[in-house]
Amino acid sequence: MEDQNKFSEEDIRPKNVMEGAKIAFLKDLARLLSHSDKFVKVSCPACNSNEFTPTYKKFGLDYVTCNHCQTLYISPRPSSEVLEICYKESNVYDYWDKYIFPASDKARREKMFKPRVDAILEFCEKYNVVTGSILDIGGAYGTLCQEAASRNVFRRIVSIEPTPGLAKTSREKGIETIELPVEKVSFGEHEKFDVVVNFEVIEHLFSPEDFIKQCKQFLKPNGLFVVTCPNGKGFDFTVLKEQCNSMDYEHLNYFNPHSLPLLLSRCGFEVLETLTPGRLDAELVRKKILSGEFDVSNNPFLKQVLIDNWETTAVPFQDFLAQNKLSSSMWIIAKNTN
Ligand SMILES: [Zn+2]
Repeated sequence: MEDQNKFSEEDIRPKNVMEGAKIAFLKDLARLLSHSDKFVKVSCPACNSNEFTPTYKKFGLDYVTCNHCQTLYISPRPSSEVLEICYKESNVYDYWDKYIFPASDKARREKMFKPRVDAILEFCEKYNVVTGSILDIGGAYGTLCQEAASRNVFRRIVSIEPTPGLAKTSREKGIETIELPVEKVSFGEHEKFDVVVNFEVIEHLFSPEDFIKQCKQFLKPNGLFVVTCPNGKGFDFTVLKEQCNSMDYEHLNYFNPHSLPLLLSRCGFEVLETLTPGRLDAELVRKKILSGEFDVSNNPFLKQVLIDNWETTAVPFQDFLAQNKLSSSMWIIAKNTN
């Protein structure tokens, strides 16, 4: 899987192009906050409870934690309409399309997408799912579909990508790309897919429940559903809290290995596996310490593991996190039960 290959953050987020991304990020944040009069309060995106504990304030947004399933989420949050405007005009995605993806596409394909496709095919085999057609929701630059096409396994490969620049690049790669927000997409009764995947999409959505129900509509009976997202109870989130770089204003929902399966079950999926195969947690926290942004002078244990003994602890410590559902990158594999 993705993450059994050792790779560093620098491979997938090259430093020299990340500076311009910061400027784009601030522009997009200002645009989002200019719509704050249209933000709405929501119940827990996983279990629907209205009982929560205020947790952080970051980027002028309120993060709360569900008292029942510990999902961390932004509420009040931008409505679907506001999100659609913001993604359509996103400076960040435009920047990724123009600079970051081209600078890192080769490394991403090799180190992220190749293992992702390997994993999808392994799950298909393990759970006896036919590899006739695959739909990638939030296909971005089209790299997953491109990698999947190179395997000559799927007869039909489709990407849904609403951001115009990314959709254009995806089409230029020869990928069938639907340039619409997912909630506006529909397929005929005979066009259902054997496999539906979405990588790092659900954390961005106003209503994850509506999204999951829609994914179910796209799937054949017994079709395979693969969803990945940050684990809000993963190592770098729980250690760094609001200082964690992945705590991004675009991420409205931080599920965990307990709460996302709960949501999938509520929406009529049978959850087959919950995994946290991430490889970057320890490295991300270590970088924060080395840059002086995160102080461990009162935390001798973290200092030992992440600084003093790094040469020997790095790999086994990250393995421990990954194997115990404590890494911040989560995968759920599920089956459409009817
Ligand atoms: Zn909840």
